[in-house]
Amino acid sequence: MEDLKLLSNLIFKNIFVGPEEYEAKYPPRALPPGACVTRFAPSPTGFMHMGNMFPAFVNKLISGATQGVFFLRIEDTDKKREVEDGVTAILKGLAAFGLEPDEGVVAEDEEKGAYGPYKQSQRREIYQAFAKKLYEEGKAYPCFCTEEELNDLRQEQEEENVNKGYYGPWARCSRLSFEEQKAALDAGKPFVIRLRSAGDPEKRIVFKDLIKGEIKMPQNTMDVVLLKTDGIPTYHFAHAVDDHLMGTTHVIRGDEWISSVALHVELFAACGFKLPKYAHIAPLMKEEDGSRRKLSKRLDPEAAVMYFVEKGYPKESVLEYLLTLINSNFEQWRSANRTAALTDFPFKIKKMSAGGALFDLVKLNDVSKNVISFMSADEVYDKALAWAREYDPLYHELLLADPDYSKKIFAIDRGGKKPRKDIALWSELKDYTVYFFDEIYEPQYDLPDNISPKDAAAILESYLEVFNAQDDRETWFSKIKDICLPLGFTPNVKEYRKNPEAYKGHVGHVSSVIRLALTSRQNTPDLHSIIALLGNDRARQRLGDALKYHSK
Ligand code: GLU
Repeated sequence: MEDLKLLSNLIFKNIFVGPEEYEAKYPPRALPPGACVTRFAPSPTGFMHMGNMFPAFVNKLISGATQGVFFLRIEDTDKKREVEDGVTAILKGLAAFGLEPDEGVVAEDEEKGAYGPYKQSQRREIYQAFAKKLYEEGKAYPCFCTEEELNDLRQEQEEENVNKGYYGPWARCSRLSFEEQKAALDAGKPFVIRLRSAGDPEKRIVFKDLIKGEIKMPQNTMDVVLLKTDGIPTYHFAHAVDDHLMGTTHVIRGDEWISSVALHVELFAACGFKLPKYAHIAPLMKEEDGSRRKLSKRLDPEAAVMYFVEKGYPKESVLEYLLTLINSNFEQWRSANRTAALTDFPFKIKKMSAGGALFDLVKLNDVSKNVISFMSADEVYDKALAWAREYDPLYHELLLADPDYSKKIFAIDRGGKKPRKDIALWSELKDYTVYFFDEIYEPQYDLPDNISPKDAAAILESYLEVFNAQDDRETWFSKIKDICLPLGFTPNVKEYRKNPEAYKGHVGHVSSVIRLALTSRQNTPDLHSIIALLGNDRARQRLGDALKYHSK
């Protein structure tokens, strides 16, 4: 006993605070019954991707739906993978989609909440205190094997064709006596701390994954590393200690971690911690050439969360789309609750599919068009302005120069029962509204195939004679109809279809020529509203310029 204490103090130098004190410092949370404490626990690699934003969203949804807590923990134990401002990138990615944590790391050097520190690099003593306890209970031991010895071990295992790793008969340091341990320590040999696995290779663990259902897998038998030579924990050990002390009730993460559950179950048991509930989310998939593969950081630009920010997808659209992937009953709920906030959706983890959902940009765009179509002109203005401030300074300047005018542009075909669904992202808006801004508008004088320049000139000439931007809709349209017949066009589309040889075209073709002259577009929102906004002078000028061009 004496020996053990002595050795323990030698191994875990300067660890004077014990687990009990940490347990007292981080008491169980006082939360309403059923409240879920969830977390997002990324490494600060400087890159937020859909593969971790998706689980982060699910974590946030679950805590939100149960009046729980969603916290952000930074898993920075692997210094090799860390980049500068990595935390900022994560926070920015989360904030862009309204997934701010309730607790945890909130800025590069700032956190909130009573269960911190929330950066693993600042929790060294805590992990060591728990490792020390495991050592004193005989559940962990120092391993002095060198890199070379481990390589030899691997080779031997290869030759004997057995499972690779540090376990059972191969775990040489697990059998060192106290004297041998002491001698190695006295000799200043570097060491790691390993778990003394109690796993039985013949036995299985059974656990209930909240998404995938009951899962059986062989028990862990590996004497995994808990603390590395520098005293820094491995992910597995750190996660067990942290999720225990931070009161995590639900560990919801990507399913690449599923095979680690056997180890996690053993770690929680060895430490005497209550096992949290687990839910493993299948990765987002991409369809390519008829087959499916995982959305890839390397191959797919849309794997990066910032892609959506830069393109100007409203966060509401992305979240709405992700919800269609997350819960099979979301779309049904949405059609019954058209304007309800996403946070009102009764999210159920049970309804998540166990297989990988297809991430489809085309579908996202449709969802986004729908979402934007329900926004008010003021909302579109504010959001587009905020996007342009960052990503399109020129457009930002234009929108800001006359907010009232800009809002009137966005009000065209908005509101009412059937709003126009043509904008999916803010970055499309400039092109879509370009003809409202003389500073950036460059007229093009292409014509529909069936209209000759001569006919176009005749249409524009007749139209200019009667044109008045203040006409009400009816007058405006009857004026267009009136110029048709004298120019060989019919005001009646049906009539034209019956008898196409008799006419040069119909009223739609005539309107097209006018529309093109005013906007250089074949398709626009309501032309009458466009004319009213352009005003007499500008509209006349454009009609006149087009007339001149076609008369050449
Ligand atoms: N740090 C791990 C990761 O980067 C966290 C896994 C977990 O959520 O437990 O994915």
